[in-house]
Amino acid sequence: MRQAEPIRVLLVEDSEDDALLLERRLRAAFPLAALRRVDSAERMRAALAEGPWDVVISDHVMPGFDSEAALALLRESGSDAPFILYSGCLDEGRGALAMRVGASDWIAKHDPARIVPVIERELRNVRLRREKERVEREARELASYDTLTRLPNRSLFCQQAQLRLDAIEAERSGAALLYIDLDRFMRINETLGYAAGDAVMRQIAVRLRAGAPAGSLVARLGQDEFAILAAVADGAREPRRIAERLARRFAEPIVVNDQEFYVTLSVGVSLYPEHGSDCATLLKNAESAVHFVKRLGGNGHRVYQAELQAASCESLRLENELRHAIVRRQLHLVYQPIYDIAAQRVVAAEALLRWRHPEMGLVPPDRFIPVADDTGQIHAIGAWVLEQACAEARAWGERYGRPIAVAVNFSATQFRHQHFAARVLGILRASGLSPHLLEMEITEGTAMHDAEAAAEVLGAFKRAGVRVAIDDFGTGYSSLSYLRRLPIDILKIDKSFMRDVPHDADNLAIVRTILALGHAMKLECHAEGVETPAQLELLRAERCARAQGFLLGRPVEARAFAELLAAEDGAPAAGGAPLVLAGAAG
Ligand code: C2E
Ligand code: MG
Ligand code: MG
Repeated sequence: MRQAEPIRVLLVEDSEDDALLLERRLRAAFPLAALRRVDSAERMRAALAEGPWDVVISDHVMPGFDSEAALALLRESGSDAPFILYSGCLDEGRGALAMRVGASDWIAKHDPARIVPVIERELRNVRLRREKERVEREARELASYDTLTRLPNRSLFCQQAQLRLDAIEAERSGAALLYIDLDRFMRINETLGYAAGDAVMRQIAVRLRAGAPAGSLVARLGQDEFAILAAVADGAREPRRIAERLARRFAEPIVVNDQEFYVTLSVGVSLYPEHGSDCATLLKNAESAVHFVKRLGGNGHRVYQAELQAASCESLRLENELRHAIVRRQLHLVYQPIYDIAAQRVVAAEALLRWRHPEMGLVPPDRFIPVADDTGQIHAIGAWVLEQACAEARAWGERYGRPIAVAVNFSATQFRHQHFAARVLGILRASGLSPHLLEMEITEGTAMHDAEAAAEVLGAFKRAGVRVAIDDFGTGYSSLSYLRRLPIDILKIDKSFMRDVPHDADNLAIVRTILALGHAMKLECHAEGVETPAQLELLRAERCARAQGFLLGRPVEARAFAELLAAEDGAPAAGGAPLVLAGAAG
């Protein structure tokens, strides 16, 4: 068989005659072959340095050199080319020994006809071996690289990062791990489809790679998460600069299918060795720093801080658990009676949210409402609260034949939502509760934050007939002139001012002042935190309209509140009789 391949054959042979005979035979079989003869270690080394040889044919003994040394030289050079022993003085035993130490075959010089078939067989074997290695390498790559962006995946990143960290440790320098999370990337997938989402993702990867410092390790960790490991010398300053540089790369939109997409990044940074000595710890800490950035609305960066993280762990747990609280029926409302002091009757109830978690127990609203606020979960929770409260109040009215209002609390986050008024009024309408029986409680801070916007939202409620109460009044340093311009109906004096009234002269003065102010502004005044008969007496004397507090009734389940109304219906509500006390149960 004639071989048209330009194979390169290295002959290690001291006898020119033998080499010539061999060459003739090889030329006949491989006309394009490049042949080269060497006869010493130095020459062989030089030939090996010149480039790859497809096959090496070596004599067994030469002056100052032998096949064993030649084979060692070949393998030292990194070549896996077949090595064929070609000798006049080899017996079968020595030939077999040579093969055991790595020769591909051995041929006696008196049997030269074997040489061509052996070379052909060995070349075939090499090809097969290399093909197998290529397939294996590709399979390995597939398992280590992200197919979409061609970046290393999480497992390869961890391997390579660990090697780099070891090297950095030896040099006693530092590194930073940037954990990058794309803000709201799912939105792109959802609006554009996954094909366009993929195209955007590829461009993102290109920008990240271009924005990462030279020599750093860039990887795609998951769906919309990337990581960069970079050597840094000066603590947190350099990684901050890297994060800013990356953000600038995304100032320009990404264009796919003629559509522009603005992508922003949330970046968490952990430092080596301060925040972890291994890749897994650094990743974990950088990721928790990302959560902080996300909680603040994304599009920014933050360096990990152990103390902050401890606090965030707790709120992170609350956040995650809160996500399921509505569907898992862990939320419920309790109702605290609100009395009309003059009529001595319950006229309203304040709906207060409770979260009973199977492991954490009863979580107080002061702990979970701020978390719900930060994460935006308050909107869904607030809608649920309003639905429940309106339905309950409507049922009371129907059952007891007299109107009972329900007061519902709204946080600043809820209040500032673009469609706040429309949503609240929508739920109210659907509930069938008469609008004047809903009292919206917002704090002074909420109302004061943006008085103009607040006036507009509150105006919408006023027109619909809903009443508005300023909750915790006195704690927010409101400007009175501001307050006067807002369409509000009720002032709820904060319970902190009721403490030790009437004995505490300062609090007494404050309560009197607020009541005088409220009366002057024609607002209905309402005192919270009424715990003693003396407090109630004072309020009556000062013509405060309504009271709420442990003296009159603790917040109770809907059913207990209904029983309270039923009991009241049976009792006379004549003026002068002592106020019905609901006891201190609940
Ligand atoms: P708030 O609106 O000022 O509610 C009154 C709080 O005072 C309630 O605490 C109530 O249990 C408590 N309280 C009532 N009477 C007395 C008393 O005589 N003495 C004392 N020391 N305390 C009394 P709670 O239920 O723990 O609620 C705390 C805060 O959580 C509420 O303050 C309100 O700002 C918020 N909150 C409760 N439910 C909701 C809700 O559904 N949505 C929103 N956005 N916030 C809510
Ligand atoms: Mg309230
Ligand atoms: Mg209050």
